[in-house]
Amino acid sequence: MAVFAEKIVQWIEAAEQRVELKYREIDRIVDRNQWKVIEAFQKYQVSDFHFSGSTGYAYNDRGREVLDLVYAEVFGAEAALVRPHFASGTHTIATALFGMLRPGDELLYITGRPYDTLHKVIGKPGDGTGSLQDFGIRYDEAALLADGSVDWQAVAAKVNDRTKVIGIQRSRGYDWRDSFTVEQIGEMVSKVKELKPDCLVFVDNCYGEFTEEVEPTQVGADLIAGSLIKNPGGGLAETGGYICGRAELVQRAAYRLTAPGIGAEVGAMLGTTRGIYQGLFLAPTTVGQALKGSVLAAAVFEQAGFESRPGWNAKRTDLIQAIAFSGPEQLIAFVQGIQRAAAVDGHVVPEAWDMPGYEHPVIMAAGTFIQGGSLELSADAPIREPYIAYMQGGLTYSHVKFGLLTALQTMLERNLI
Ligand SMILES: *Cc1c(COP(=O)(O)O)cnc(C)c1O
Repeated sequence: MAVFAEKIVQWIEAAEQRVELKYREIDRIVDRNQWKVIEAFQKYQVSDFHFSGSTGYAYNDRGREVLDLVYAEVFGAEAALVRPHFASGTHTIATALFGMLRPGDELLYITGRPYDTLHKVIGKPGDGTGSLQDFGIRYDEAALLADGSVDWQAVAAKVNDRTKVIGIQRSRGYDWRDSFTVEQIGEMVSKVKELKPDCLVFVDNCYGEFTEEVEPTQVGADLIAGSLIKNPGGGLAETGGYICGRAELVQRAAYRLTAPGIGAEVGAMLGTTRGIYQGLFLAPTTVGQALKGSVLAAAVFEQAGFESRPGWNAKRTDLIQAIAFSGPEQLIAFVQGIQRAAAVDGHVVPEAWDMPGYEHPVIMAAGTFIQGGSLELSADAPIREPYIAYMQGGLTYSHVKFGLLTALQTMLERNLI
């Protein structure tokens, strides 16, 4: 058994006691979401035969069709497209955006600069990559105000005749800002529709699913997208993404994913169906485990004298826990410590590298069953000031606790705390 310094064990124990009531709140959200998911399965009479794999064109794959219906029900949306054919969250979001936008239309992000991997999807006019701007779709963004809220003056000034889609990113991503709650997203939708009623609102829902009792589609978002190797995959989905929202827009995304006229009617599931269903079934509980882990991380690092965002007691709307360190050594020790606690690849030592799609070297702890799966305990840190590590996930609370103990122990061994 690993032995941890007395001081570290005491920090963890004190933190656990402090956050006890927060855990009860999370339990309530887990219950609601678990029941919601079960009821959706029951409504469509999910049965064993839905789990069988399909091949070739996979016409009439009933498991795939019902999966879309179940997702739509869970997200309170008209329709959904849930597929292993989405290679990543970025691919899913790109498909949603290309589905909604046409040359000459404008996409306006109102939550500041979007997540790093989307920068190349937006691209530049004439960049030759097939990016949005390369296809003549215009792009603009309104930076957030210093307090992290939407700059409505700037948004009102930027909305114009061409503005077709308003983009909202729910999660903080790699930014030291607060994530937006579903309630706040609902307020944004109302304001956007006042400014320009025919605008479509798209929400990048990555990391948000099941952290609250409602989803952005239930407060007026027209289309949302997310990754199956994050929250809704429950740690079991092996790959894929989902898009939910208004039926016509989901259809357009499906035309973009496969081909116009074909859409969601084809697509062999190749044996992934059971994992996607079972993952959805487990997702509310697994997200609850990860959320408790994030709360513990915030509390224990606060105890250790670091700044955490969100604070342990704040309302949560995503999995990400940001922790600010005072230099690259602490940051690297933390990430390497998280990796040391992994069941998979616990013996490897992560180093910073230039990941495709990211602008700075990034160090990642990812000892995961699913490559890059970030509902599993993982930590990412771009090596740039102000030296913030973003940790998320944990299929079990106990693993997150072990990860935090190991990370603190690693920092202690290197005389960094
Ligand atoms: C993870 C994430 C993405 C992109 O997903 P990938 O699977 O990494 O391509 C986009 N937006 C946000 C907010 C994310 O967290």
